[in-house]
Amino acid sequence: MALLATATVAFKTINTQIRNRSFLPLQKHLSLSSSLSSFSFFRTVSGRAMELERKNSTVIDENGVLKKGIAEFYDESSAIWEDIWGDHMHHGFYPPDSTVSLSDHRAAQIQMIEQALRFASIPLEDERKWPKKIVDVGCGIGGSSRYLTQKFGATAVGITLSPVQVQRANALAAAQGLANKVSFQVADALDQPFPDGQFDLVWSMESGEHMPDKAKFVSELARVAAPGATIIIVTWCHRDLGPDEESLKPWEEKHLKKICDAFYLPAWCSTADYVRLLESLSLQDIKSEDWSPYVAPFWPAVIRSALSWKGLTSLLRSGLKTIKGALAMPLMIEGFKKDLIKFAIITCRKPE
Ligand code: SAH
Repeated sequence: MALLATATVAFKTINTQIRNRSFLPLQKHLSLSSSLSSFSFFRTVSGRAMELERKNSTVIDENGVLKKGIAEFYDESSAIWEDIWGDHMHHGFYPPDSTVSLSDHRAAQIQMIEQALRFASIPLEDERKWPKKIVDVGCGIGGSSRYLTQKFGATAVGITLSPVQVQRANALAAAQGLANKVSFQVADALDQPFPDGQFDLVWSMESGEHMPDKAKFVSELARVAAPGATIIIVTWCHRDLGPDEESLKPWEEKHLKKICDAFYLPAWCSTADYVRLLESLSLQDIKSEDWSPYVAPFWPAVIRSALSWKGLTSLLRSGLKTIKGALAMPLMIEGFKKDLIKFAIITCRKPE
């Protein structure tokens, strides 16, 4: 419940930021005070600054709680996921009307990666233009990193909040003879431990929904991207708001909050919000698409596998966080069915 309250406050703060498009850092507000001559005015402004600073540190505390929850959630649940579903911790891409058996899901997850590369216009036919240096932001146990490294003969570095995932991702890389090509570390996507302009493919597969500050998230993706690099974000969004809408409907907010609580998510935003954020950073060739129809078979399949004997016994052995996550899965299906949740791809290029 405490986390739900936290997520709610963060949700409101960020939603207001996104709607007002006021992404000015606190520093900019504070710098006003130095140019003020009237003392009483200064006092008012510095009072406001202190208030902002207090609010800012509350947000940091809330983010700290959220980050801890995310790390623990994945520490606890990654092994059971891998046991049943393998090393890709993301949706599969299913052509419309396909009927798939459980054994096809890995192929669908690979399809998701392939389709994302295609959508982003990575020149797959021209080897000379393949990405050579990749960052996998929110890497899970490194399924995408290893796949992309092998596909392109590139190097990759993955970051996640979960130490258990890092350990497993590095172990799998070593077992596949990729230890000199890929590496994984615990690091925050909102404060990446990389210099500017490093990577020619910036990859975020289903991690954006965990980010409490979407503006900071995309600005970090853009910062570490090399000139001309491609940025690919595949993420859960809420539906775009209509022209006369200020916010989602109360039932929609309530529905998302339940999901936030179970999956350690902060505020959701829409695909249009992401596009606006990328535009504000002057990124080029911005494209987005709703892939919800292509992922429809995914959650029913996950639920079926959770209800299998192996799924049920693994769940019971896992822990409360994982069980809570499993119980929230029908909420995802309902959210998609009611057009509230969108599975979005958003891609762009950093100018040369
Ligand atoms: N991209 C992976 C895993 C998706 S699960 C895959 O497709 O297999 C979401 C991942 O995002 C987890 O690894 C989680 O630790 C990571 N994550 C969430 N918030 C993060 C943050 N602030 N910084 C870094 N990683 C984060």
